[in-house]
Amino acid sequence: MATDPAAVPPSPAPRLVDQQLRTRAQRVIPGGMYGHMSTALLPGNYPQFFSHARGAHVFDADGNRYLDLMCAYGPNLFGYGHESIDRAFTQQLARGDLAPGPSPLMVDLAEQLVALIAHARWAMFCKNGTDATTMALMVARAHTNRRIVIRCAGSYHGSAPWCTPIARGTLPEDRAHQLSCTYNDTASLQTALDAAGDDLAAVIVTPYRHDAFRDQAAIERDFAQQLRAACNLRGAVLILDEVRAGLRLQRDTSWSVLGVEPDLSCWGKALANGHPLSALLGGERLRAAASSIYVTGSFWYAAAPMAAALETLRLVRDSHYLEQLEHLGERLRHGLAAAAHRHGFEFRQTGPVQMPLFLFADDPDLRLGFGWCSEMLDRGIYVHPWHNMFLCAAMTAADIDAAVEAADGAFAALNRARPGLEPHPGIKALMSSR
Ligand code: PMP
Repeated sequence: MATDPAAVPPSPAPRLVDQQLRTRAQRVIPGGMYGHMSTALLPGNYPQFFSHARGAHVFDADGNRYLDLMCAYGPNLFGYGHESIDRAFTQQLARGDLAPGPSPLMVDLAEQLVALIAHARWAMFCKNGTDATTMALMVARAHTNRRIVIRCAGSYHGSAPWCTPIARGTLPEDRAHQLSCTYNDTASLQTALDAAGDDLAAVIVTPYRHDAFRDQAAIERDFAQQLRAACNLRGAVLILDEVRAGLRLQRDTSWSVLGVEPDLSCWGKALANGHPLSALLGGERLRAAASSIYVTGSFWYAAAPMAAALETLRLVRDSHYLEQLEHLGERLRHGLAAAAHRHGFEFRQTGPVQMPLFLFADDPDLRLGFGWCSEMLDRGIYVHPWHNMFLCAAMTAADIDAAVEAADGAFAALNRARPGLEPHPGIKALMSSR
């Protein structure tokens, strides 16, 4: 019987090193791993440890190579180990990274961000996205002398006690003075606004709905405009959390195309192409409040990540990376849609093409998604079964075509395996608790 070559994955090297590392990690790292990089809620064949990364590819600890459609959950925008960005980083590292004060690069970088991001008149730097969102709330509360923050149910803004999605270890008081509304739902926003009354400090919102485990959704113009108008009317602060989407959709805030400007915007992830840096940007109205709060960190002023960010921003301005991401993203979306159709699957691809999320129809416990991702991994393509993914500018049309070809084999294999598929126990428990 002739075999379909696309259906037969090249066998990956057995992941013995990964297994050994997991065993050692169990002893010295709580739970073996924690946070968003734990493989606990990923298919069983996913590697936990990666030894190196280059361009659009990552290599697990056993030496298997994958096209990485996660881009480290977003930071990789121009490619891992990007030559000019990493040169800027290492040259500054050699000159000096930390000192009793920041380097002149901090002023250069703040100027560049203010020049690039239309609403911004000032910048403050920190390390993680959570630092930036937490600071944004502080600035808003300092400015308004009010308490309540409205956020959209299910939107991720970081892992500080006020916002971590799993409340264990936090107090109800950590989340006091928060109200929630439904993304894109103007009626629920109005209800939250009414409940906040004259105590509304801020509304924090992501530029589009990129929550995990569900289809992504574009921002509706009416909703964005209602947010802006409500904040204007009440003297409250509109915070746009660009940590995940920033610089992948626009060379300004992601809402620049809507003509809706936030008062504060939070940036991280791709800002320095993977080097640790995040930022809070704000308009003139918030300048005094921003200078009144006390926020800092031992590593916040490090110069080398700022050098990397300056070079990243130069590439943002001077290269066609965004157009390339869109082009590659379209190619991937069309290729996957055709492959899914050929094999009889209703495969939902949502969100901007450069930040896609894949879910199968009629797959409430994600067993199809897990089965497919697992097959993709065996074919050298790292995809995620329930989180949005990211394209980077180091990807080529040939990489995308390789992903589509792998998908063809993965869909065929999924059809064969379908009758025996079981849900992942952790996902089953999670889905039944929602
Ligand atoms: N906001 C959004 C929208 C995010 O996606 C993330 C990270 N996934 C954060 C905030 C927190 O960023 P960090 O993990 O760097 O603290």
